[in-house]
Amino acid sequence: MEKTYDVIILGGGLAGLTLSIQIKKQRPSTSILILESRDASAATAAHKVGESTVELGSYYLREVLGLTPYLEAHELPKHGLRFFFPSENKGDITTRVELGPRTDLTVPSHQLDRGTLENELERHTKSLGTEIILGARVKDVDLSAQGSQVVYISKKETHTASGTWIADASGRVSVLKRKLGFEKPMDHAVSAVWFRLKGKIDIDDWSSSPSWRSITKPGLRYYSTVHFMDKGYWVWVIPLGSGNTSIGIVADPAVHPFDTYNTYEKSMKWLEVNEPLCAKMLVREKEDVLDFKILNHYAHHTGQLYCADNRWGVTGEAGAFLDPLYSPGTDFIAMNNSWLSDLILRDLSGEDILLRAAVYQSSHLALVDSWIPIYQNKYPLMGSSQIMTFKIFWDWAIYWSVPTLLFTNNALTDIKLLKELFSSPTSLGRKFGQLHKVMQDLFVAWGPHEQTLFPNHYIDLFDMKSLLKLQQGIMVKHEPRALVEQVGRNMEVLEMMASQLFRMVSHRVHGTPIDMKVDPYKISLEKGADTGMNTGQSPDPALAKELEMMWYHTKKKEVMA
Ligand SMILES: Cc1cc2nc3c(=O)[nH]c(=O)nc-3n(C[C@H](O)[C@H](O)[C@H](O)COP(=O)(O)OP(=O)(O)OC[C@H]3O[C@@H](n4cnc5c(N)ncnc54)[C@H](O)[C@@H]3O)c2cc1C
Repeated sequence: MEKTYDVIILGGGLAGLTLSIQIKKQRPSTSILILESRDASAATAAHKVGESTVELGSYYLREVLGLTPYLEAHELPKHGLRFFFPSENKGDITTRVELGPRTDLTVPSHQLDRGTLENELERHTKSLGTEIILGARVKDVDLSAQGSQVVYISKKETHTASGTWIADASGRVSVLKRKLGFEKPMDHAVSAVWFRLKGKIDIDDWSSSPSWRSITKPGLRYYSTVHFMDKGYWVWVIPLGSGNTSIGIVADPAVHPFDTYNTYEKSMKWLEVNEPLCAKMLVREKEDVLDFKILNHYAHHTGQLYCADNRWGVTGEAGAFLDPLYSPGTDFIAMNNSWLSDLILRDLSGEDILLRAAVYQSSHLALVDSWIPIYQNKYPLMGSSQIMTFKIFWDWAIYWSVPTLLFTNNALTDIKLLKELFSSPTSLGRKFGQLHKVMQDLFVAWGPHEQTLFPNHYIDLFDMKSLLKLQQGIMVKHEPRALVEQVGRNMEVLEMMASQLFRMVSHRVHGTPIDMKVDPYKISLEKGADTGMNTGQSPDPALAKELEMMWYHTKKKEVMA
């Protein structure tokens, strides 16, 4: 008789492989089959994108899956995100505003060679008892509460496999989304191309200026995910553990039409115009260009994620994908897998998961929706170092203060806590969403007023203790009650930060008093808007002084020779 697996995972990429490990670690007896269409080991360097990780995703790989020894031995440590904004002479890197950490970071993250990683994850999950069939292309799934049937092609023959649970991790192929028709468009039309170059590329070598080189601790720039930004685009440079380098161009077609950079030859020409130093430093012989990939309009949403009735779920890019800026892809896989594995394990142990599945789905969809404004309509702002510095500060502050803190404290599967944080309109989680939205609207409204180019500045946002504290706070463990209290305290910090950022912007744009009262939930740059001038918060002098560090207009910054 045909074996029935507890779980069949469609697709053995990052999401599918990590899901299997997460399930096996919690319930080793679970029988899992992964069907993966790739028919051989993954190539190093030129396999997939998704190479840069940030705190949440790194925590998942290191602490939840227990991969720290592998990551430290075979992948690169990462030295944060580093940004170079435009100057009048982009050919000279020392003239650009640079934002990035200058010394070691205390919270770990990694640069991943996706081929090396997937091969290791495959080996690892097999050692836990997962069965993997490579060269198995899923054709169809017949979903049923009594057990689902998966039809797949392997070695030119049709096979079937039965599973109690189906997890769709087929990436952009999105087997279940297409079959069941829950595709949902995402109004964010940005595109990307990427390629891998043989060998190491160290940004530190891009200038011989000793003062520029000595700003960061020697060797650290190499380990950062480097972003070269200007209006409508960013270019990434990511080092890989295999000794190669990943390069990508990500651009808004309203500013940079896709057909101006969608072949290798065109992308080099595009770099000559927009990033002349990159064009010069990245020229390689043809055999040293390991691949070239394109993806037009990569963002997509989903109408559904988890189904308790017929026992299925989607994870990774088979669900929703927003944008690679700030490297959140692995973060979303981490949260997605944590919800899906929890549902599967509870169901397999006989628990009724109907309510849970509904709560996880609405939490997950709300999370994606609240993340959209980080990117939507923001690419045109990328030419402004002043706006982007404020925005990056804000985006990091919100990322660490609530979602990452909840994840590292294992709170996403705590129904009572989710209810307390998100159910009522005045709950902390809902206020978090509102505050974030007004701030993202502020950045857009500020855009037309802020075009100044600031040369020769260096800023390390971790010099601001208030931000550093939020980042370091994610490593602190709390009991549920204390966690809610901590989220409350973080919200108070975010409200103070939002008010102060607004005071600075409004003072510059409208000449309002720099010490005016502000209601953070009423922040608006519209002239004459009631922003709580009489009823809102007064400034916190220490925070105001700290945030002044980001104000290029008046502050004398570290100036390079
Ligand atoms: C331009 C760009 C840059 C990015 N950069 C980053 C980054 O720096 N950091 C980050 O964390 N994330 C990044 N991401 C996101 C990251 O790439 C994804 O989150 C991640 O690769 C998704 O993994 P996955 O397992 O869902 O999909 P995939 O890795 O695509 O895996 C899906 C698997 O399913 C298999 N498959 C497909 N169809 C079938 C079928 N019918 N039958 C069997 N198997 C099938 C495929 O062979 C594949 O192995 C980036 C994304 C883009 C578009």
